Amino acid sequence: MNNFTSDKLLDSLFDGVYFVDRNRRITYWNTAAERISGYSKTEMTGSCCYNNLLRHIDTDGRELCLDGCPLSATILDGNVREAAVFLHHKLGHRVPVSVRTSPVRDDDGSIIGAVEIFNDNSNSMQILHEYERLKQEAYLDALTGIGNRRYGEMTLSTRMYDLRTHDIPFGILFMDIDHFKNFNDRFGHKTGDDVLVMVAKSISFSLRKMDVVARWGGEEFVVILPGATWVIVRAVAERIRILIENSFILADEKKQNVTVSVGGTMSRTDDDLETVISRADALMYLSKSAGRNRVSVDEGY
Ligand code: GH3
Ligand code: MG
Ligand code: MG
Repeated sequence: MNNFTSDKLLDSLFDGVYFVDRNRRITYWNTAAERISGYSKTEMTGSCCYNNLLRHIDTDGRELCLDGCPLSATILDGNVREAAVFLHHKLGHRVPVSVRTSPVRDDDGSIIGAVEIFNDNSNSMQILHEYERLKQEAYLDALTGIGNRRYGEMTLSTRMYDLRTHDIPFGILFMDIDHFKNFNDRFGHKTGDDVLVMVAKSISFSLRKMDVVARWGGEEFVVILPGATWVIVRAVAERIRILIENSFILADEKKQNVTVSVGGTMSRTDDDLETVISRADALMYLSKSAGRNRVSVDEGY
């Protein structure tokens, strides 16, 4: 590889890279090193790393250029070193970086210098935290704190996969709060929100660890029961119905409660996400038309 190609390659790296000769004179400084430190190639190339502007310090504030420079130790003994240090940014602040030093040898194997690769720790940690936060937010329902519809759909796809490849069936419940519009109209939207939280909690507390509840829409919830049977589907549906009927919040200084209509079914081998959901949804509507606050299960179909 000629110098031009290798320079371009090193410049495309996300990590800062620089080379020093045996006298610790900087012979190469890549674009990421410019970004992380604020110092340009022209400022750095030709300067000595022991009196350079970077002035690495360790977590105790010890200046490593004078005593304990990993680059000079690597040039002396040829060993690779790693350290977490802080470099001095051109604007004055300290930047936490992970550095890794390796010897550079000529064709005879003699050490002619060393290379230091460093990356910006603060940035990568921030990106990681941000990513985790977004990932969580993407699957959480902000009001109730349970999984949202996307989470429910993702869980259902996994259960579908288990059904097709391992023949593990699952149960599904679709539930909808009864006359919730009336409740909102009577007590206000805020109290309605409190009820949604209460219902979400009642459902999740009545489930086993491996079961999943998701808020499917406004006042609709879906429960997925891996490895369930008809008996389990009916029992869980009935338990949730009774629990919600007996939960209450205080509004207008009185206990107020809501009820749910539930539809429950088991997965079938030819099901897809849509068919299994719409079957449970249709059963939920059957409960509505039969008078609400009840469970409909197409048992033994
Ligand atoms: P049914 O028994 O037939 O289900 O009647 P319903 O009134 O529950 O059904 P409808 O679909 O007519 O109304 C649903 C209501 O749910 C209307 C809407 O204002 C309320 N709702 C949906 N999402 C929220 C929410 O996030 N907070 C509050 N407070 N209310 C919500
Ligand atoms: Mg509804
Ligand atoms: Mg409703």
